[in-house]
Amino acid sequence: MNFKDYIRIIPDFPQPGIRFKDITTLINNGPVYCAVIDALKQAVADKQIDLIAGPEARGFIVGAPLAVALGVGFVPIRKSGKLPGEVVEADYDLEYGKDKLAIHKDAIQPGQRVLIADDLLATGGTIATTLNLIDQLGGQVIGAAFLIELGYLDGRSKLGDLDIFSLMTY
Ligand code: AMP
Repeated sequence: MNFKDYIRIIPDFPQPGIRFKDITTLINNGPVYCAVIDALKQAVADKQIDLIAGPEARGFIVGAPLAVALGVGFVPIRKSGKLPGEVVEADYDLEYGKDKLAIHKDAIQPGQRVLIADDLLATGGTIATTLNLIDQLGGQVIGAAFLIELGYLDGRSKLGDLDIFSLMTY
C-alpha cells in the first residue's frame, strides 16, 4: 500500500506558495487509516512509552488512535484558552502563522516517557514548542512520530537529536 496515493495536495492553501498536504482523503478510508496507525505503532513499539502527546488539531487524529493502539494515555496540546485546568504555555511559529500552545500542568508526571505524534513535520516550530511544554513538566520526550515530513523545510534541525519517525517524506 502506497500511503502517498491517499494524500491530496492542494496548491496555494491556506496561502499562495503553500502546497497543503490534505490527510482527510487518507483518514476517510478505514483500512488505510488503520494501516497508517498500525505502521506507526510498529515503528515505536520498542520505546516503552507512557504517554502520547499530540498538538491540536491534526495531532489528535494521529496521536489518539496511536495511544489506543499502544494502550497508553493521550495528552492534548491545545491552542491558548481551550484547556479548562491550570496550564503552562509557550509561543510558536507555523509555516504560515503564529500562535500559542498550552498543556495541562498535571498531564505529565516528572520522568514519564512521552512520544509526540502529529500529522506533519514542516518547519518543526510546533514540535519544538511541544517539546518545551513537556520539558517544563519534567516529562522525557523519547521521540516523535508523523504521517508526513516535509524534508525541504528541515524541521529536524530544530529538534536536536530527537528520534524522529515519519511514514512519508516530500
Ligand atoms: P510546523 O510547526 O511548521 O512543523 O507545522 C506544524 C503544522 O502545520 C503541521 O503539523 C501541519 O498540521 C501544518 N502544516 C504546515 N505545513 C503544512 C503543509 N504544507 N500541508 C499541510 N499541513 C501543514
